Amino acid sequence: MKTIGLLGGMSWESTAEYYRLLNEFTRERLGGLHSARCVLYSVDFAEIEQLQARGRWDEAGEVLAAAARSVEAAGADLVLMCTNTMHKVADQVLAAVSIPLLHLADATADAVRAQGLHRVGLLGTAFTMEQDFYRGRLAAAGLDVYVPDAEGRALVHRVIYEELCLGVVREESRTAYREVIGDLVAAGAEGIVLGCTEIELLVGAEDSPVPVFPTARIHAAAAVRAALA
Ligand code: GLU
Repeated sequence: MKTIGLLGGMSWESTAEYYRLLNEFTRERLGGLHSARCVLYSVDFAEIEQLQARGRWDEAGEVLAAAARSVEAAGADLVLMCTNTMHKVADQVLAAVSIPLLHLADATADAVRAQGLHRVGLLGTAFTMEQDFYRGRLAAAGLDVYVPDAEGRALVHRVIYEELCLGVVREESRTAYREVIGDLVAAGAEGIVLGCTEIELLVGAEDSPVPVFPTARIHAAAAVRAALA
């Protein structure tokens, strides 16, 4: 079994899920008392969020590059960033290490295509929904990507930072997300990418008329497959 390196804490609410999922998927594959061999570097999210908000992505990338070097030094054979948003600095992280980075957008695109779908709605932070680093990667994998309108994007973004990253799950927000999902489906989306690792703490398959793609779960499953290959 390979050792999985995790760059987490963005936020720790979703990193805790990653840890649980990695262990569950490993037990499903190997049975008995087997669990995932992994190394976690968990950052202080307040520092990262400040750098995001100020557009200081290079500095945020340096923090994550140093964290990636740490997990490599600790024995990781591959590295995961437990956040969609911070894949904006994926190249900087990848350049810092000699182990592979399991890119979340690639794992997600694979999961969507495995279901034979091509048109997906994307929910995530404003950075993820509005910039090219993630949408472009999905598009390069052959997917048509729809995002909510400006009002929907602001709502989805606010709930992530002001609620889900703080462990707050509100029924009103679930209802609001369902409406945003409904609008994306009306616009033609055949599936919904939950493109922020906290969103699956709020909504799931039961909240959408089309399949959902929970990115923390998809990423953890891909990591276990890679670790056991
Ligand atoms: N976990 C989130 C994501 O998957 C948002 C937090 C962050 O900005 O890293 O994008």
